[in-house]
Parts: sequence; structure tokens; C-alpha cells
Amino acid sequence: MFCFQCQETAKNTGCTVRGVCGKPEKTANLQDLLIFVLKGISVYGEKLKELGKPNRDNDEFIAQGLFATITNANWDNDRFTSLIQNGLNRRERVREQFLVAYKEKQDRDFDGQLPDAATWTGQPESFAEKAKQVGVLATSNEDVRSLRELLIIGLKGIAAYADHAAILGFEKDEINDFMIKALAFTTKDMSVDEMVDLVMQTGKTAVDTMALLD
Ligand code: SF4
Repeated sequence: MFCFQCQETAKNTGCTVRGVCGKPEKTANLQDLLIFVLKGISVYGEKLKELGKPNRDNDEFIAQGLFATITNANWDNDRFTSLIQNGLNRRERVREQFLVAYKEKQDRDFDGQLPDAATWTGQPESFAEKAKQVGVLATSNEDVRSLRELLIIGLKGIAAYADHAAILGFEKDEINDFMIKALAFTTKDMSVDEMVDLVMQTGKTAVDTMALLD
């Protein structure tokens, strides 16, 4: 495990064996795998939006999945396993929608490159092993890792507000679109300037999401 999402983190660098908060390693790893699956869903969500056919089926799931991984919110491994399975099923559905929409628009099959998050699949027995490969340290460049994780931590905050607002009946497509765009973004090679720009947008979107609760 490697978790550095809160100020309690070990030695101010990262919890690597068990969280200072008590979070077990297996739980931390499953949380990483859930984020990985949400990224895969978002890759197709972003592509559908680019094709002019945005898909809203996964908005709530993405917000709830991100929210489930915030500090001390949930340490139920069965719940995370179930969310990952649900996420993989959702990703396959949105993938099919994208492939159909792409063919309709381009008159040919999609043959572009896709990140591992958009293609990997597995059964619950394989989750623990895969989870070890997709955590924070999977990004080797420290600057890129820091910016990607700053983005993910910001998204978790947005998701927490968005989920509360949705329960009260307030939602904004722009906020859900931003979460999809930002999650998909973490699977791409982008410049530092582009990453910093998106991190700044995350802050603004968090304020906009909080305003839904006013
Ligand atoms: S949430 Fe828990 S495991 Fe993660 S950094 Fe904080 S104390 Fe460590």
C-alpha cells in the first residue's frame, strides 16, 4: 500500500504497511483498484462526450466510488470488491456504447490506443494482485505523480460534496463532466502546465460543488 491522502500520513510521506489511521493494507489496495476502474469508465465517458453523446449513467457511481475512498469513510473490503465488480460491468457497457457511437460517426471501427484502466478486467480472486500494480507509486515520475494525485484527492472532495448534494436533489452535469474529464486525464501523458491547469480547475469546481449545498 501507499497512501498519503491525509495529514496523518506516516513520517509525513506515506503510509506503507498499515495506515496511521488504522486502514489495513488490503483495504488501501482495493481502494486504489476502485479508483483505477473509475478511470477506465471515465476514459469512455470522455470519448462519448467528445462524440456529442454524453453518457450520464455512471455519474452517481463515480461520485460514490470516489467518496468511498476518502480517509476513514469505509474499510469494508467486501463493499470495495462489489464496487469494483460493478465498476467493471459499467465500464463494459459504456465501452460498448462508445464503440457503437464511434462507428456511427466515423464509419469505421475504433482502433486507437487505450490505457490499461480501460481494458484490464479480472475476477475478484485477481483483485488483490492487480491492486498492487495500480496504486499511487505506479507513476514513476515524482512530479507527474504528485500532480495526478493532487487531482485525485481534489476529486474525492468534489465527490463528497456532489454526493451529498445529489441526495438533496441538486446536481450539475458540468460537475460530473469535470470528474470524468479529470479521471480520464490521469491516464494520459500531459504536460506539467496542462496538469497544473487542471488542478486549478479542480479547486474552482470544488467551490462550485460546495455551492450546490447552499
Ligand atoms: S488515510 Fe490513513 S492510510 Fe491514508 S495517509 Fe491518512 S492515515 Fe495514512
